[in-house]
Amino acid sequence: MISQHTKSTRDANRDGLTRIFLIGAGKGGRAVLSRLLRFNWVQIAGVSDLNPQAPGILLAQEAGLPFFIGDPLQFLQGLDVNLTFDLTGDQLMHTRLLSLPSRSFDVVTGPVSYLLWSMIQELEEQEIQLRAHLGEHRVLLEINQMLSRSETSEQIFEAIVMGGIRMTGMPAGSLSIFDKQKQQLFLVAAKGFSSEFFKQAIYSVRTGGLTEHILSRNEPVLIPNIAEYPSFNNPVLLKEGVRSLIAVPLLSEKGPIGILYNDDFKPRTFTPSMLEALRLLATLAVIAIQKQQALEEIKSLSIRDPLTGLYNRRYLNEILIAEMDRAFRLNRPLSILLIDVDYFKSVNDRFGHLVGDQVLHGLSKLFGLIIRPYDTVARYGGEEFLLLMSETDEPEAVAAAERLRSATASERLLPEETPLTCSFGISTMRGDEGRLPTPEEFIQRADKALYEAKRAGRNRVHVFRADSASSPSVSESEKTR
Ligand code: GH3
Ligand code: MG
Ligand code: MG
Repeated sequence: MISQHTKSTRDANRDGLTRIFLIGAGKGGRAVLSRLLRFNWVQIAGVSDLNPQAPGILLAQEAGLPFFIGDPLQFLQGLDVNLTFDLTGDQLMHTRLLSLPSRSFDVVTGPVSYLLWSMIQELEEQEIQLRAHLGEHRVLLEINQMLSRSETSEQIFEAIVMGGIRMTGMPAGSLSIFDKQKQQLFLVAAKGFSSEFFKQAIYSVRTGGLTEHILSRNEPVLIPNIAEYPSFNNPVLLKEGVRSLIAVPLLSEKGPIGILYNDDFKPRTFTPSMLEALRLLATLAVIAIQKQQALEEIKSLSIRDPLTGLYNRRYLNEILIAEMDRAFRLNRPLSILLIDVDYFKSVNDRFGHLVGDQVLHGLSKLFGLIIRPYDTVARYGGEEFLLLMSETDEPEAVAAAERLRSATASERLLPEETPLTCSFGISTMRGDEGRLPTPEEFIQRADKALYEAKRAGRNRVHVFRADSASSPSVSESEKTR
């Protein structure tokens, strides 16, 4: 049970080397051997075991060290050894070693070798954990770099989902953003699922449901096996074959802003260090999302008119150039509609500027409701609006203007019975025109038509004609009252 002192200690060696013989090359023997190999003052004189496939024997083979299969005492006799490690835990081996006649080496055996082996095992485990931690931190660093390189929300969302997948080693994941006001989640990115998964992109937070539970927690929610989670009934995930998941709430100072899900198609367990890494990932994700939202807010402020929330003139000019270019290139029609409120000065005069502002705001909301999603409406000036309609020829533009005109006239926008009306000037360019007008020319044409509509009595739609100044739209006679 004891390391016995003999004349051959390390210091006493002729060449400063300690020659070690290892008995018992199982898992423990392998661990001890791999540690011993790190010391340059150690020489392995041999490794022995009864099993030729023992892990320590395989390692000795790999490292080109002498190894012996069979009774170690048989081999020990002829070797130059100062120290023997007995890792067999075998009482008989212990006794035989200590009672060897004329033994010239120290022996570590019994409880001493057990203690040594336990300490080494603990070190091994710590090293494995440390390596895993370092790996996770490297992944976090990469994710952070990926996030800071991302320029659009889509790229950021995707980087977060990929980060979760890399961090957990799970095959699928998704990110949903939480709208607190609507109590809804919007699926913004997903990986590892079928295309069906995207069909339900918006889902409401059900009281008492799993989503509400996740959002209310400061911690990731773990479901190692959904079969053991009776309240789990998300049909989309079940259809995808999800069997286990981690849901990480993304928490800002003001509350949850989303949920990052990591999913697997088989039940599984989760390690504490994986959860720790996911918590860090969630922090990075929240910072990246909030930064992007702030940037987008700034951008939208610089392209929108603050009173109406519509695009401003500067931004409209940018889109107009691009749209005109596209129409010309692809030989497609493009129409613009210039809209001017009739007698707006008198609205201000009679009801005050504040009511005037409210009217402009209400009008822009009304326009927003009527136009097609791919039309662009901008506040062009004080009480002037411009509607840009791609893929729209003249008759279609006239019809759209008529819809806006009659909707405005029948909406009660003023604090009195008299309706508020608008006049409309239309200009259409066809892609096959010989020369592309400048954006200024294009708008001037609509302005000319608008002027004619005003002159003809207001509350009407006029179309620009190259020959005459402008002509009334087909339906003009119908609408005059
Ligand atoms: P017309 O039918 O010929 O267009 O007559 P109008 O009174 O609408 O035309 P005019 O161009 O003479 O007047 C436009 C008025 O719109 C003058 C201006 O004070 C008002 N206006 C412009 N911008 C704003 C705004 O942001 N808020 C308010 N309340 N009024 C505005
Ligand atoms: Mg005006
Ligand atoms: Mg006006």
